[in-house]
Amino acid sequence: MKYYSTNHHAPAASLEEAVVKGLASDRGLFMPEHIDRLPDEFFENIDKFTFQEIACRVAEAFFGEDIPKEDIDRIVCDTLAFDCPVVEVEPSIYSLELFHGPTLAFKDVGARFMARLLQYFIKRQNDGKEVNVLVATSGDTGSAVANGFLGVEGIHVYVLYPKGKVSPIQECQFTTLGKNITAIEVDGVFDDCQSLVKSAFMDAELCDHIKLTSANSINVARFLPQAFYYFNAYARMKEKGLADQLVISVPSGNFGNITAGLFAHRMGLPIKRFIAANNANDIFYNYLMTGVYSPKPSRQTIANAMDVGDPSNFARILDLYGCDHGRITSLISGATYTDEQIAETMKECHDTTGYTLDPHGACGYRALKEGLRPGETGVFLETAHPAKFKDTVEPIIGAEVTIPDRLAAFMKGEKQSVPMTTEFADFKSFLMTR
Ligand SMILES: *Cc1c(COP(=O)(O)O)cnc(C)c1O
Repeated sequence: MKYYSTNHHAPAASLEEAVVKGLASDRGLFMPEHIDRLPDEFFENIDKFTFQEIACRVAEAFFGEDIPKEDIDRIVCDTLAFDCPVVEVEPSIYSLELFHGPTLAFKDVGARFMARLLQYFIKRQNDGKEVNVLVATSGDTGSAVANGFLGVEGIHVYVLYPKGKVSPIQECQFTTLGKNITAIEVDGVFDDCQSLVKSAFMDAELCDHIKLTSANSINVARFLPQAFYYFNAYARMKEKGLADQLVISVPSGNFGNITAGLFAHRMGLPIKRFIAANNANDIFYNYLMTGVYSPKPSRQTIANAMDVGDPSNFARILDLYGCDHGRITSLISGATYTDEQIAETMKECHDTTGYTLDPHGACGYRALKEGLRPGETGVFLETAHPAKFKDTVEPIIGAEVTIPDRLAAFMKGEKQSVPMTTEFADFKSFLMTR
């Protein structure tokens, strides 16, 4: 399968090029040249398949032209070493829990898949050179990528993060790992980390010396596998006899997660409609209302993984529907919530149902509470475990949030990091000696 750029000024790329490059040379996002409908028979029987079986079928549809079936199936099964269950919160409202992976957030799925796909390509190239993944993080991306690549042979990951600007819970998830993961503590802000990474990719001498790649969230290998759990959610709801008028509500920031759901829909998954639930960053919501897309600087909220003022994957949504505002609004509606509304929702849900939402999932849940029509059943994506945001969640709900064992285990590990200035020359000489 070839991948074209949403900007249409770059040549089509192979899967391998799209994965290694991440972004097209015209700065557009890669899109698969065709998205095939899966056969009716698959959807009729989907409730009889396990999550892994479903994911293998979906992955074969995307990657089957480029990778032998048994290799895809192995990558999928290795990726999905944890479940993404659907849990009832109250009648008609279900939570698709995406926090059962190593770093307790949905980004684990894409990061683990990308690590294994990259390893597959490295082995096939067979030039024996290690690949170095550089990732700048303000918190959550670094942990998902580091843990996704942990112990994957042939790949070394450098996580650059701003000193003193990530929470202790986040920091321990990428500084205590060791093995093929190196944490670099930059004496600056997130933008400094990002500009060190960008400068590294543009430095010819460095790129000659070591193989560099990125693992950002717009990479097709991180983005496409997120479709797996939409199919699984449908299957599990069909098992319950509740899949006829299914509405999926997705807490959205950079819009990668919901776009994967839209790909699933294009492949024939019978979802009635989608809701994009935003925090105060209401750019997509305003686009739905007015047809005009006007990016703004991001605003800080308590659902901070969704603080995005110019969502990258908007370009993919436009491309998928031929820039037709009418087609987009007939399938997707929007919602936007202030921090006060998010907090109120978390408290109310906890008090009335006993279910603890994280601030991101709370947006998805509230959008269903307000937007579900008679006869519809809603599933919202619970994108992270509330314990990841313990300091925010506990005072709001007035109760303690238990930290799952695998998160507690990170917190017991010993922090190891390499101190770094914001000067590119320092970062470069560090990488040159590796
Ligand atoms: C990244 C993230 C989001 C936003 O997902 P997008 O794919 O960027 O829309 C939502 N919730 C959590 C917890 C996240 O980490």
